[in-house]
Amino acid sequence: MTEAFLKYFRTKEQEVKSEKKYESQCPYCSMQCKMQLIEQSIVTRKKYITIGKENPTSEGRLCIKGMNAHQHAFHKDRLKYPLLKVNGEFVRVSWETALNKIKENFTKIQAESGLNALAVYGSASITNEEAYLLGKFARVALKTKYIDYNGRLCMSAAASAASQTFGLDRGFTNSLAEIPSARCIILAGTNIAECQPTIMPYFERAKENGAYIIAIDPRETATTKIADLHLKPKPGTDAVLANGILKVIIEENYVDKDFIQERVNGFEEVREYVLSLNLEEIEEITGVPIELIRKAAVRFGKEETGMIFTARGVEQHTNGSMTVRNLLNILLSTGKIGKPGCGYGAITGQGNGQGAREHGQKADQLPGYRSIENEEHREYVASVWGINKDDLPHKGVSAYEMIEKIHEGEIQGLFLMCSNPIVSNPNAHFVKEAIKKLKFFVAVDLFVSETARLADLILPASSYLEDEGTMTNIEGRVTLREASYPCPGEVKHDWQIICEIARVLGKEKYFSFSSAEEIFSELRMASRGGNADYFGMTYERLRKEGGILWPCPAPDHGGTKRVFETSFAHSDGKAAMVVVPNIPEVPKEQLSEEFPLYLTTGRVMSHYLTGVQTRKSPALAARNVEPFMEIHPATALKFQIQDQSLVKIESRRGSVVVRSKWSETIRHDTIFVPFHWADSQNINLLVSKELDPVCKMPGFKVSVVKVSPVKDFLN
Ligand code: SF4
Repeated sequence: MTEAFLKYFRTKEQEVKSEKKYESQCPYCSMQCKMQLIEQSIVTRKKYITIGKENPTSEGRLCIKGMNAHQHAFHKDRLKYPLLKVNGEFVRVSWETALNKIKENFTKIQAESGLNALAVYGSASITNEEAYLLGKFARVALKTKYIDYNGRLCMSAAASAASQTFGLDRGFTNSLAEIPSARCIILAGTNIAECQPTIMPYFERAKENGAYIIAIDPRETATTKIADLHLKPKPGTDAVLANGILKVIIEENYVDKDFIQERVNGFEEVREYVLSLNLEEIEEITGVPIELIRKAAVRFGKEETGMIFTARGVEQHTNGSMTVRNLLNILLSTGKIGKPGCGYGAITGQGNGQGAREHGQKADQLPGYRSIENEEHREYVASVWGINKDDLPHKGVSAYEMIEKIHEGEIQGLFLMCSNPIVSNPNAHFVKEAIKKLKFFVAVDLFVSETARLADLILPASSYLEDEGTMTNIEGRVTLREASYPCPGEVKHDWQIICEIARVLGKEKYFSFSSAEEIFSELRMASRGGNADYFGMTYERLRKEGGILWPCPAPDHGGTKRVFETSFAHSDGKAAMVVVPNIPEVPKEQLSEEFPLYLTTGRVMSHYLTGVQTRKSPALAARNVEPFMEIHPATALKFQIQDQSLVKIESRRGSVVVRSKWSETIRHDTIFVPFHWADSQNINLLVSKELDPVCKMPGFKVSVVKVSPVKDFLN
C-alpha cells in the first residue's frame, strides 16, 4: 500500500457517517457534572466523546473521570443478562428464572428463620428514586428491619454531626456560588483537587478575591497546595486541634456574642472547657506548633466571613462525628453561618451521597429524613405507602454491623444493590467470610464485582447513560439526570428490578410504577413536611430550573439556597455546641515496636470508590494501574525500602504487597495507600473494625502497621 493510499484510508476511516447525542450526568462524585455523550458512527466502529454541559454547579466543567466515564458503560464485560451460579459457575438464565429463584429462596429463608433473616444493602450511587424504593422494598415487601447502605462508610460522621448540631443535615449549607465571597476557608481532611476537581475554581475565585485558605491534612496534596497555611496534625488528632483553635478564638475575643446569645446553646460549657486546656499539650498531641494553631484561629476569627469544609480525612475515624462537631463549634462561636459567605460544607464523596441518605436507605430512617422510631413519622409514611404503621419494622443496624449479623447467622439472605462491600468495608477478610456464609445472595451490578463473584444470582444493572432519575448533589441541589441511551441486552433499570421482585413476592400493589418520574411523585409526597422536603419539585421544574436546592416545600417555592438564615432546625431554633474531649482518637491499637507506623488511606484522581467502574476504563486505569504506598524517604531508609520497590504492609488483620513511592510531603510516622483496588491489593484487609459509637463510621483513617521490603519477589 502506498503512503498516499494509507493517508486516504485514514482520512476516510475517521469520516463521521452519523452522530447521536445523549444527555446525562457523570456517575462518579457529588459534583454530578452535567454532560453530553456524542456517539459518532465512523466507517469501522463507533466513537464516543463526552463533553461538559453548562449548569449552575459544575458550570460546564468535567474532570478526567467524567470525560472517560463512557468507557466503563460500553465495556465488553458489562453484565447483560441475569447470571445464576450452578455448580460454582455462573450461567445465563432468563429473568423469569431469576425472579422465581429469588421468590423461592427469600420465602424459604423468612419462613424458616423470620422476616429479619433477610437484609438489604444499598448504595449512594443510585438515584433518589431507587434509594427511596429500596427503603420501601425492605420495609414493605420484605418486612425486614435490616437495611443500610455504603454511604455509612462515607458520610455518616458529617451527617450525624450536622443533625446533632443544626438539627438538619444538608451537605452544604449554602450554594457553591457563595464560596468566592468567603474571606477565610478551612479545608479539613479534604482533597477536593483530586476527588471533586470541578469544584476547585470556586476556591480559586475565593483566593483571587483575597480569601485566606487553611488546610488541615497530614499529607501535602494537590489541594493543600492552594492553602496559605497547612496544618499537618498526627492522624486522629483533628478534634484536639479544633480545641486549640477554639481556645485561641475565645481568648482573643473573636466570639460573636450576639449570635451566640440569640442562636446557640452550649457555648458556656464549651468556653469553660477549652479555656481550661493547655496549648502546649495540644501541640504535643497534634504535632502542630502553637504559633500555627494561633495563626489559623486568629485569621478565621478576625475575617468577616468564613466557611469550613470537612471530608473523609477528618470524618473516617472512630471519633469522626465528634471531630466534625468540634469544627462546627468553631463556626458557631464566630457566628459564621446562615449569612452570605459563611457556612459549612461536608464534601460528599459518592455521586448521590446526599440524596441517598435522605429517603430511607439508612437503618433508622424513613423518607424525607424522617425517623423510623418517631411515631408521627411512622404514621405519615405508612399512610403514603398505604400500610398500617404497626407493620413498619423498627430500626436495624449499620452496614458493618449487618455484616457481623451475617457472620453470626442471624441474617441468612442478602439483596445487594450496586455496592462492593468486601472491598469497601474494613476488616475485609471477615467481610468476605461473612458473605460466603449466606444461604442466598443476590447482587445487582454493572459488572461481576469482587463481591458479586460470591453471589448466587447476579442481576444486570443499568448505567448512568441509561437510567433516568434525580440525584442530589454536593450543594443539596436536586438535579434530573436525563438518560436515554438504550439498555444493552436484557439489562433493566434498578427500580424495575426492585418492582419486579416485589411483584413475585406478592407486593405488586405497592410497587406498580412504570417510570422513574412516577416514583418521584410518590417520593415527593413521602418527603413532604420532612427535613429534606422535595414536595415542591417536579421533573419539569428540575429540567427548566437546572435543579432545585432542598427544602422546597411547595410548587411555587424557589428552593433554599442558604439554610439557617434565621433559625436552626432544632425545636427551639438554636444550634447545639458540645464539649469535645481533648483526647486523640483512641484506636484499640497504638504505635508500638511491632507496628511503628500509622496507615492512612484515601483516593487518587483517576479512580472512584472500589474501582469497579474506573478500573474498567482504559484511560483511567492507565493513570494508576496499581495501588502504591506513599512513605517519607527518611522513614523508607529506616525500613530499607527503596523508591518504586515492592513492599509488604502488615497489620494484625492481614497484609498486602504494593509498590513504594517516596514522598517528602508525608509525615515521618505515617504511610498512605489508596483504596481503589481489590483482592490481594485491598488495603481494607488491614483496617480494623472499630466503629464511631455515634454514627457507626469505621475508623478507616488510622491503623497501625509495619512495613518491610519484598526482596525475593521475583526469585
Ligand atoms: Fe465532575 Fe466529579 Fe465526574 Fe469529575 S468525577 S466529572 S468532578 S462529577
